[in-house]
Amino acid sequence: MSADVEITLRGPESYKVARHVLDLMESHNVWPTPLNFELWFHFVADPEGALAIELGRLISLGEPLTENVSEDLAAAYLAKARLNEQIRDAGDQLSKELDSVSRAIQLAQKSNEAYGQTLAGASQGLNGAEDVGQIRSMVDTLSTATRRVQKENKSLEKRLADSTGEVQRLREHLEQVRRDATTDGLTNLANRRSFDEELIRACAEADEHGAPLTLAVLDIDHFKSFNDTWGHQTGDQVIRFVASVIGRIGAEPRFSARYGGEEFAIIFPGEDAAVVEMSLQEIREEIASRMLKRRSTNEDLGTVTISAGLATRREGETGVCVMERADAALYTSKRTGRNRVTNGEKLADAA
Ligand code: GH3
Ligand code: MG
Ligand code: MG
Repeated sequence: MSADVEITLRGPESYKVARHVLDLMESHNVWPTPLNFELWFHFVADPEGALAIELGRLISLGEPLTENVSEDLAAAYLAKARLNEQIRDAGDQLSKELDSVSRAIQLAQKSNEAYGQTLAGASQGLNGAEDVGQIRSMVDTLSTATRRVQKENKSLEKRLADSTGEVQRLREHLEQVRRDATTDGLTNLANRRSFDEELIRACAEADEHGAPLTLAVLDIDHFKSFNDTWGHQTGDQVIRFVASVIGRIGAEPRFSARYGGEEFAIIFPGEDAAVVEMSLQEIREEIASRMLKRRSTNEDLGTVTISAGLATRREGETGVCVMERADAALYTSKRTGRNRVTNGEKLADAA
């Protein structure tokens, strides 16, 4: 939640605002789920925000505000806000840590300068010393100063060691935040957002090297009826199984993602349609050949199949356009019987 919205939630007016949010949700036929509440709270508390603008647009179009729409909005706007917040927190901690280290270093510099002056003074004093008493007192001064500076250096060393540990911890935390933000929780594949980012990057790279790039979209067949028969939880296990096959064959330098509920996408940098078609056939066959069992009861679930479509990027084409063509090829696979791979380039040739 953004800082402004966060403050509104805890202010004296918060109950009034919350009631207003609930009324508004009711008047738009939206269930008061926690997720919807968060979305609509943003709508009310931060009307200029990107989320409010998008939600306002959907309302004005008269779009039905289904759970899918809510989830898309949350993925697009709330995840980003949460991520930004976590990054900001980690950044704040990091800069505090750096401030404190830089103060410690300044102190150490000062004390070393003072020590240098003490030494210079002592050296002059020794030249002019007249008796043992004077020399002894100077040696006392020197050894006191030496001990002090040693102690301060030790404490600086410890401070730096602590700080190195803290910075390491922050770095790991940031790395975790980054992983969470780019990974799909169910399958551990990349999520849609990081796929979209990678696609832009991969297209730019393909342009740079004049290399081909092929995209594939894969979708589990008749998955709704699988869920209806076996339940959502078992459905989730199947999504994980399909993802594991896709993740293995779509491993680096390929890039595979869970693009939506039971839909996946793979980027094949540097590969043309014919090669990709073979990889997709391999994925398709492997999935279709596995007899699935329900873990909890060992019941036979039969098999599931996937349909796939692929398209190869034309020079200068945006990733979104290639995705659209891959999607059209997937649609052809669905229409012509499912459990098949359609090479969109062959469709284009035929047309
Ligand atoms: P088609 O062969 O045309 O793709 O048919 P389908 O039933 O797979 O397609 P449809 O898009 O109508 O339904 C997709 C279903 O996938 C709807 C929903 O029940 C299921 N689904 C989507 N996301 C998830 C998920 O995260 N977990 C589970 N278990 N099911 C999901
Ligand atoms: Mg499907
Ligand atoms: Mg689908």
